[in-house]
Amino acid sequence: MSLHGAYDPDNIFAKILRGEIPSVKVWEDDEVLAFMDVFPQSEGHVLVVSKTSKARTLLDMEPEVLTRLTAAVQRTARAVEKALKPEGFSLMQFNGEAGGQTVFHLHFHIVPRWADRAMKGHGHAPMADVEHLKALASRIVAELD
Ligand code: 5GP
Repeated sequence: MSLHGAYDPDNIFAKILRGEIPSVKVWEDDEVLAFMDVFPQSEGHVLVVSKTSKARTLLDMEPEVLTRLTAAVQRTARAVEKALKPEGFSLMQFNGEAGGQTVFHLHFHIVPRWADRAMKGHGHAPMADVEHLKALASRIVAELD
């Protein structure tokens, strides 16, 4: 998948947004959804997406939607930090297959980091236990401002 092309309404995140496949939600409002990555690169890996935009990559997104989305990323990252107390976190956002993107609905990754724990490779992490993800999501949502 290149940087350019039509939005596929059947991509995995579009299906999650329509409720056609399950996800472990952290929080949502009318415009954004934060949910747990089911193949987490570290404990507490959260994805944040727009619920309204059909942007595949950063290049496509309406600037005003991007503004709201990045504010939601910051709000989520603050809650992740309070809940899980990482020593750092990586904010990742991949564009185009050559850029590492696998799901073509623009999203940001919040990946908590600890100095003594290696982050798993992007696209190389095993599937997490859903009950464990639900427990993490509960801890994160409890810390939302
Ligand atoms: P990308 O490679 O496009 O930047 O990131 C896509 C992310 O979606 C990956 O981190 C991958 O683990 C995650 N992912 C893929 N399929 C699913 C799914 O069905 N549910 C959830 N929650 N995450 C998924």
